[in-house]
Amino acid sequence: MTDCLFCKIAAGEIPSNKLYEDDTLLAFYDIDPQAPVHFLVIPKQHIESAASLTEKDAALLGHVYAVIARLTQQLGCAGGYRVVTNVGEDGGQSVKHLHFHVLAKRSLAWPPG
Ligand code: AMP
Ligand code: ZN
Repeated sequence: MTDCLFCKIAAGEIPSNKLYEDDTLLAFYDIDPQAPVHFLVIPKQHIESAASLTEKDAALLGHVYAVIARLTQQLGCAGGYRVVTNVGEDGGQSVKHLHFHVLAKRSLAWPPG
């Protein structure tokens, strides 16, 4: 999608602080971190949000969570972590390209605000 910030980051047109990349996914640090570790995992393919996912995306989602498990292990997040995907206005989604926040290295409150 031409006018999408995360498509531009995935294409390397806008720089990011990259953590991991493969054919289908990119992980990079959030520009406005909400925890000592805060990175985002995005599919390179434009998907608007989790509301657009179907059973056909099962492999993609398995891959997302496997990459998150590996990266959090590498970053020493032994105390645990939280994976969040905001959907739509009420969900607090500001960038309309599916992304998974990964937050770690502090105690996270529940319920979220
Ligand atoms: P959300 O509000 O769930 O849509 O999350 C969007 C996230 O993208 C926010 O946490 C922003 O801080 C982050 N963000 C926005 N622009 C950039 C950027 N250029 N590089 C890294 N993270 C960004
Ligand atoms: Zn996009």
